Amino acid sequence: MTRRTVLGAATTAMALQGQNGPAKYVRFRKGTRVAYGALAGEEIRELSGDFLKGGKPNGTVHKLKDVKLLAPVAPGKVVAIARNYKSHLGTVAPPARPEMFYKPVACICGPDDPIILPKDSTDVHYEGELVAVIGKKLKNASKEQAAAGVFGVTCGNDVSERQWQGGPDKDIQWWRAKGSDTFGPLGPYVVAGIDYGKLMLRTRLNGKVVQEQSTSELIYDVPTMIAFTSKFVTLEPGDLVYTGTPGTTKKMSPGDMVEVDIEGIGVLRNPIKAE
Ligand code: MG
Repeated sequence: MTRRTVLGAATTAMALQGQNGPAKYVRFRKGTRVAYGALAGEEIRELSGDFLKGGKPNGTVHKLKDVKLLAPVAPGKVVAIARNYKSHLGTVAPPARPEMFYKPVACICGPDDPIILPKDSTDVHYEGELVAVIGKKLKNASKEQAAAGVFGVTCGNDVSERQWQGGPDKDIQWWRAKGSDTFGPLGPYVVAGIDYGKLMLRTRLNGKVVQEQSTSELIYDVPTMIAFTSKFVTLEPGDLVYTGTPGTTKKMSPGDMVEVDIEGIGVLRNPIKAE
C-alpha cells in the first residue's frame, strides 16, 4: 500500500468522525452489488471503494434495513491468539510468548449468517473476541508501529470444536477445530478512531450473558501481539487479528443464537444450524 492510500484512509476516517463519534464502516450487498459504506445512524453512505484503500462517500445513501451486511473485511489472512485472558486459562500458566495460530480466510462469515455445525462435530463452542483490522503493511514492527498500523476493530467469534482441538482424537493442527466453514463470524462494523484498550466484551447465548470481560484484561495487548506476529509474517491491510476469548465457553446447538457485543462497536449475531 502506498503512503498516499494510507493517508487517504485516515483522512476518510477523520472526515466521517464528528457528531456521531468514531467512524463505523461496513461492507454490504444490495441486490447483486457488493459495496463498502460508512454507517450514519440507520443509513449507510456508500463509499467509492474499500475504506481500507481510502474509499470516500460517493453521494449514494442506502437504508440499513434495505441491505445485507457482509463480513466488513475480506482478509488476506487471519491470525488469532490462544490463552490471552487469565479468566480463560483456569489453572494453566500464562504463555511465555503470544500463542498465535492461523484461522483460514475461508471460515469467515458475516453478521446474521448461520454458523453451520459440521456433521461429525459434537462439541462446538463460541469464543467472543475483539478483532483488530490491519490498515498498514507491517514487518518487524515495533509496538508503536503496530498500534499505528491498526485501522480499526470489530467483533469476532472464534468458533471452536473442542474435541478436534484437544480431545482424545485431536488433530495436529486446528484446521477444522477452528477453521471449518463459518467458524469465523466477523462484524457487523469496523470502527475506527476508538480506544479499544478498555472495552467491555459480552457474549450472549440465547440472550443470556455467558462471557463478560474488559479488553483491558488481555494478557498480550493488541500492539504486542501484532508486533510479535510481524517478526515472522508480513501483515497487510485487511488482515485480521482475533485477540483471544475470556472466561469459559459452552457448547452450542442447532436453534441457538449467539451474540458477541463489544461496547462502542456493535453486536455480531449468528444463528446456529446443523449441516
Ligand atoms: Mg479464540
